[in-house]
Amino acid sequence: MEKCSMCKKEFPVSALKEMVQIIDRKAYLDKYCPVCQAVAGNNPSYYYLAVKKAK
Ligand SMILES: [Zn+2]
Repeated sequence: MEKCSMCKKEFPVSALKEMVQIIDRKAYLDKYCPVCQAVAGNNPSYYYLAVKKAK
């Protein structure tokens, strides 16, 4: 079990995903649970580590 960086609840490692948060042009790598991934997905300062298809 590992803690979600946002809600601080514990989840199985397989449920957590690494996301990058940009704060003051610095990137912070953290792990987020599925609920917080959805929240972060709507926040433009968070990015998934996986490469997105860019235009
Ligand atoms: Zn969470």
